[in-house]
Amino acid sequence: IQFSDLNLDKNLVSALKSAGYDSPTPIQMQAIPAALQGRDIMASAQTGSGKTAAFLLPSLQKITKRSEKSGKGPRVLVLTPTRELAAQVEKNAQIYAQNMKWVRTVTLVGGSSFGQQIKALSRPIDVIVATPGRLMDHMRSGRIDFDRLEVLVLDEADRMLDMGFIDDIETIVAATPADRQTLLFSATWDGAVGKLARKLTQNPEIIDI
Ligand code: AMP
Repeated sequence: IQFSDLNLDKNLVSALKSAGYDSPTPIQMQAIPAALQGRDIMASAQTGSGKTAAFLLPSLQKITKRSEKSGKGPRVLVLTPTRELAAQVEKNAQIYAQNMKWVRTVTLVGGSSFGQQIKALSRPIDVIVATPGRLMDHMRSGRIDFDRLEVLVLDEADRMLDMGFIDDIETIVAATPADRQTLLFSATWDGAVGKLARKLTQNPEIIDI
């Protein structure tokens, strides 16, 4: 199986080619077709499995089409437990969206300039990559409108709960449209993270690599 067999947009396929990716990894082979069909996903996959592309590629595919809603809020939101992981996700998003110059990505993490983030949020955005705490700070001051949100991704959901982000995640999710697509990645579904996953997803495709 090649990336070109997965019904991905040509701009994504060509970006993967220039990034030197030959073929999809097992998580990508399972997650991408299901996500492109609009399914919710609960995937257990480790770092190194290619999980970032498994959620970014179908998310970016959505924004190859114009939004049906007006407004300037994000169409894709990726939550990560740490700034380091957020930076990784952003870096990958830039690689995969290199032939989609119109895509605007904003990363909202602690320890970075608030002023610059506020400025970035004043313009239309397609993708937000954020840690829950800093995203909440911006939401509290009314700076983020999730009316246009189509895809919500939780990366390393178990770690986010271990770090005490459950209340923030619940508040963020409550601000997003109920008809969004939800893509969840976690090392485990035991305990609280499984409970959260069942609440956030509808008929999810379960992927265990
Ligand atoms: P991740 O598990 O998302 O942290 O990805 C691990 C590494 O594998 C990253 O450096 C990716 O750029 C790379 N990668 C992801 N998918 C592929 C692929 N299909 N072929 C080659 N490298 C990949």
